[in-house]
Amino acid sequence: MEEKNFICTACPMGCKLIVRMENDEVIQVLGHRCRRGEGYGRQEATAPKRMLATTVRTINGKHPLLPVYTSSEVPKAKMAEILAILRQVEISCPVKMGDVVLENIADTGIDILASRDM
Ligand code: SF4
Repeated sequence: MEEKNFICTACPMGCKLIVRMENDEVIQVLGHRCRRGEGYGRQEATAPKRMLATTVRTINGKHPLLPVYTSSEVPKAKMAEILAILRQVEISCPVKMGDVVLENIADTGIDILASRDM
């Protein structure tokens, strides 16, 4: 049996989770104080996700880079592919905060949004 250790970041309590795995399947989650933490442990152990905040280049912008973020958490496994796509993107200004810069990035169903007006 394999054990993975995580700190739950679903709330500020920061519970120490132990996830017991067998053949890549979660057998048991220990250390959580609520159901949310159990779900977090299962997700981290099998298919971790993260919010992504980065920048893209601008055309006619006040600044050369526009800060952007993902509309929800993206699979960590897709992070390198997403960053490679965003390195190729150039956004024409003006842009409003919250505007969709790119839809369905890397076929995740997740959009890239502008973090500020420019
Ligand atoms: S297990 Fe529950 S109480 Fe503990 S950090 Fe996670 S969300 Fe918070």
